[in-house]
Amino acid sequence: MPLKGQEVSGAAGDTQGQRILFLGNSYNRFSVECLKALVELGHDLVVGSYDASAQGAWQLIRNRLKVRGGSFVVRQALHLAWGRTRLAFRRAGAPRRGFASLPELCQAYGLKTIPCTHPNSAEFVQQVRALEVDLIVVAAFGRILTRALLESPRLGCINVHPSLLPRYRGPEPFYWVLANNDETTGVTIHYMDEGIDTGDVILQKEFEIAPGDTEITLKERSVQVAAKLLGEAIPLLLAGKAERVGQDHSAATYYSFPPRGASVARLSRQTRAFQGDTNSAFLDHFRCPHDFASFGLNGELSKEEGFFRFGRDTICYGRFAGTPSKQIAPGLPDASEGARIQDGQILLPFNISQVIENLRNERYVLHAEHSLRTLMEETVIRKFYYFLRPILPITVRKHLQRARFKGWDRIPFPHWPVDFTVELLLDHAMTLVLRSHPDKRIPFIWFWPAGAKSCVLITHDVEATAGRDFCTELMNLDDSFGIKSAFQIVPEVRYEARIGFLEAFRARGFEVNVHDLNHDGALFQDRQEFLRRADRINRFAKEFHTRGFRAGSMYRKQEWYDALDVSYDMSVPNVAHLEPQRGGCCTVMPYFIGHILELPLTTTQDYSLFHILGDYSIELWKKQIDLIRQRHGLISFITHPDYLVERCARQVYRDLLGHLSELKTSERLWVALPGEVNSWWRNRSQMNLVQDGEAWRIEGPDHERACVAYASLENDRLVYTLGSES
Ligand SMILES: [Zn+2]
Repeated sequence: MPLKGQEVSGAAGDTQGQRILFLGNSYNRFSVECLKALVELGHDLVVGSYDASAQGAWQLIRNRLKVRGGSFVVRQALHLAWGRTRLAFRRAGAPRRGFASLPELCQAYGLKTIPCTHPNSAEFVQQVRALEVDLIVVAAFGRILTRALLESPRLGCINVHPSLLPRYRGPEPFYWVLANNDETTGVTIHYMDEGIDTGDVILQKEFEIAPGDTEITLKERSVQVAAKLLGEAIPLLLAGKAERVGQDHSAATYYSFPPRGASVARLSRQTRAFQGDTNSAFLDHFRCPHDFASFGLNGELSKEEGFFRFGRDTICYGRFAGTPSKQIAPGLPDASEGARIQDGQILLPFNISQVIENLRNERYVLHAEHSLRTLMEETVIRKFYYFLRPILPITVRKHLQRARFKGWDRIPFPHWPVDFTVELLLDHAMTLVLRSHPDKRIPFIWFWPAGAKSCVLITHDVEATAGRDFCTELMNLDDSFGIKSAFQIVPEVRYEARIGFLEAFRARGFEVNVHDLNHDGALFQDRQEFLRRADRINRFAKEFHTRGFRAGSMYRKQEWYDALDVSYDMSVPNVAHLEPQRGGCCTVMPYFIGHILELPLTTTQDYSLFHILGDYSIELWKKQIDLIRQRHGLISFITHPDYLVERCARQVYRDLLGHLSELKTSERLWVALPGEVNSWWRNRSQMNLVQDGEAWRIEGPDHERACVAYASLENDRLVYTLGSES
């Protein structure tokens, strides 16, 4: 079926003349994508969409609150508001990508619609008969249909259900397959009868549940599988070639709505993947000989993830042998009370590798106290902001952003201005290892090459033409302090960046990386769209001869990174209170996200410093540098040529360069390019410590630059000493 004003291409064969009635829920993605699949088949379509909110919004909210709790309802309400706004735009003729609702899809393709508030009424059945419908397709309709309606079309009535029937009949299978820790789930297309999900099966497709999957990601993948499966099933049905297999009712399971307030997004299966893997985070961090790390679990872990403490100030998120808290609030249970040393093994009431993985991947975010706020920012406000942004002067943008960030300083977690939770946990673990070990000195591979105490990264994101035209001057400025930096270039839409322009950076010893695709703030909004964009980003990375990437505005979805064909990413803030997307990875060390090495942003961006905090000094930066230096971490900066054009801002940046070049010698900082840090950290992750008589020797790639260090306790305080200094 053609999009209004477009030509039709391709033909649907000899089943063309048949008429299908589609019944779905107006604002449900599952319905929208299934209808889209039908539209692509090119049959005569009639759409009956059911808008649950038309029944009385208050009644709906009350019911959903009872069933799923507050944050679920807020998410749905926002989705609804967004869907309606888009529809209004589309009616006004504004072109939009994708579809948020059935009415929007119908509007775009000029589909015939019929009202169906009462699908079982005699009137509705009469109407369907009059339309001479051949087949009814139902997806996420949420209503039980009577026999009279089911029997009215020639070929009957089929439903798309997101589980492998006969298992998980009922309204919310996504929640239940996760709650039951299943390894696979699927989509079933089946004939409808008067029972709930009990009819004969036509087609079924199974797929794996990934360790990090949540209700949201699972639904997203089910939607894609369902649309594809429907595209296969319809031609078979219309041609009379569809199979019909009765369900094994003895194997059936039925699940109703999830328990009240049950976790929407955080419930994931990744816990099991880490069960046998308590040592990996510790070994990856220290690269010490394996026999020094022997962590076990003390007690059975809770099924649900939540917050607890490990010592006074270290907040953890994950499963816990106790009752973890749903929120960060005073009086969190303390895991150090459950830590024991037994036969040289350290038993903890949680899996330290799992908790560290949760923190780095920001899995705690939806549970943190500000979750509602984040949720709203994530969806509607962000979309409106980016919609209006091109016409907003910077002064208005500044005011909007200040209003939006109000209260940021009261966010309890991660810790401002730098969060070291991951390092604190690892140090705590090392302290326990030292207490359990008679050797009292544990060798490990020092974090940075040639015994550098910390590492400094300077990066510049080039946002617009003004910034592009200031790059040469900025290189001169960096060079005048003996510092090389990396420039991130937006490949599409924003400005032109020719190959010659890119070569000029490298010719002077600076680095070039890809910055987003077009920087419209929507990179991670839709999985399919992301995959399309990732493809382009990968091609630009090749064209730019670079292996590095940073997303626009530090937007991120770490669980999607596998689609990026780059070697390192720089889009995850350590603490993101002043970024549009809240959260933070709670570490100042590089870490792996699958095949990609993350080099987190550990200091405040120039834009936030000048325009949100209104601070034109380097005091905050100095404080952050000192804190990270004490923990031997990665001190990374983002400044923008676009903002440094301004004289005041440039002076502050010059002060920063002066401060860093002083520390470089006095405190042995390694000032490096992201690509260099990437190679070093990757090599270090391949190195091993081997005993050589009394001494320790490092083996592996680039081992000549690596140093042996020792961890020991002095008056029960953890101390690191470099081999040459001991
Ligand atoms: Zn940017």
